[in-house]
Amino acid sequence: MKPESLMMTHGYVPEWSENAVKCPIYQTSTFVFPNAEAGKRFFALAYGKTDPHAGEKPGLIYSRLNNPNLQILEERLALWEDAADAAVFESGMSAISTVFLTFLKPGDRLLISNPVYGGTHHFVHHYLPSIGVHVEHFDAETDLSELRAELCSSERGGQIKLIYAETPANPTNAVVDLKALGELKAALKNSHGTEIRLAVDNTYLGPIWQKPLEWGADMSCYSATKFLSGHSDLIAGAVTGTAECLLAIKTLRTFLGNMASPNTCWLLTRSLETLSIRMERQASNALQVLSFLESHPAVERVYFPGHSNQGAKQQAIHARQSPSAGAMISFDVRGGEASAFRVLNSFQLIKLAVSLGSNESLAQHPYHMTHADMPDEEKESLQLTDSMIRLSVGIEDPQDLIEDLRQALAPL
Ligand SMILES: *Cc1c(COP(=O)(O)O)cnc(C)c1O
Repeated sequence: MKPESLMMTHGYVPEWSENAVKCPIYQTSTFVFPNAEAGKRFFALAYGKTDPHAGEKPGLIYSRLNNPNLQILEERLALWEDAADAAVFESGMSAISTVFLTFLKPGDRLLISNPVYGGTHHFVHHYLPSIGVHVEHFDAETDLSELRAELCSSERGGQIKLIYAETPANPTNAVVDLKALGELKAALKNSHGTEIRLAVDNTYLGPIWQKPLEWGADMSCYSATKFLSGHSDLIAGAVTGTAECLLAIKTLRTFLGNMASPNTCWLLTRSLETLSIRMERQASNALQVLSFLESHPAVERVYFPGHSNQGAKQQAIHARQSPSAGAMISFDVRGGEASAFRVLNSFQLIKLAVSLGSNESLAQHPYHMTHADMPDEEKESLQLTDSMIRLSVGIEDPQDLIEDLRQALAPL
């Protein structure tokens, strides 16, 4: 069956809980062992001291290690990308930083796309160098085959242990070529004989419209706060991927203790039931909003995956790796920061707030808000200007959204 069907049933049996059709919240810190021998067996399995028998499930021990809400959510989330496993965290940043800390040690090098989410940018530029990790950038304009040739024949290439890409990039909607990154990883492994992982921040289009694992990625990372939740009522993060990577990530998570709580997991399990219909509606609304913005005289430029003004190379990459452009639109207004602020202050229906991917439409100013910490020259070199507004399109009536934009843009 398809994930859309399995989201209501997979991994939960009503008989476990008084025949409740919905899985209850297991708001408990610990679990009673049937006997001491079982407790011994559960710990041996949890610490990998022994292998499970055929069909044997790990027993419930303590909610930092496992909890039914966490396990059911992870099993359902993995289905969307046909991933071997998934891990859920109390925020997107805790998922992403746990991936970095799992696969990067002092002396290693991280190869990362630019721009990325502001919090990721901060962690990579302020924290990782402080523990001796080297950081190297590429962007949507970088010729990845040239970079591959250079890294395969240099010592620097042998230091790379993790390639990390955010695509489409927040907030410019620039897309990075996943096929070329999969090939880059394979080539580096070959020429240096090192273990290299590829992780993709899949928050903008995944898991419905972009499946990085199919292009050779080992992990998809998410801010589950965004589309996966879709209701602006929780903070969470997730990683899906290979069994080997997820085992390493979950091992570190057990000791950092940054797993999601039963309540957060329960809310996300509820949200996954409607993920596909929410994202479909948001994307179809976005196309209508986009065509209004494109033809508006106060709008200088729109930034949207696959759009003709992103250039032929960007269009070809987008067409190959994603069947939809999603629901995130960035656009420049005529008149810089003052005009952008005027528009943001005039919205009636659209809310002025950071975050994205929710049922309600949200707009913000990346230059001075989500990407405030990024150096100005770096922002400008990536076309992230102070004229830019980032709009996350929700599930409202599309005509109401267009009317709100019309009245907010009218004075410009
Ligand atoms: C929001 C976001 C994050 C961080 O997630 P939190 O849930 O806020 O910790 C990471 N990546 C992208 C692309 C995001 O939009």
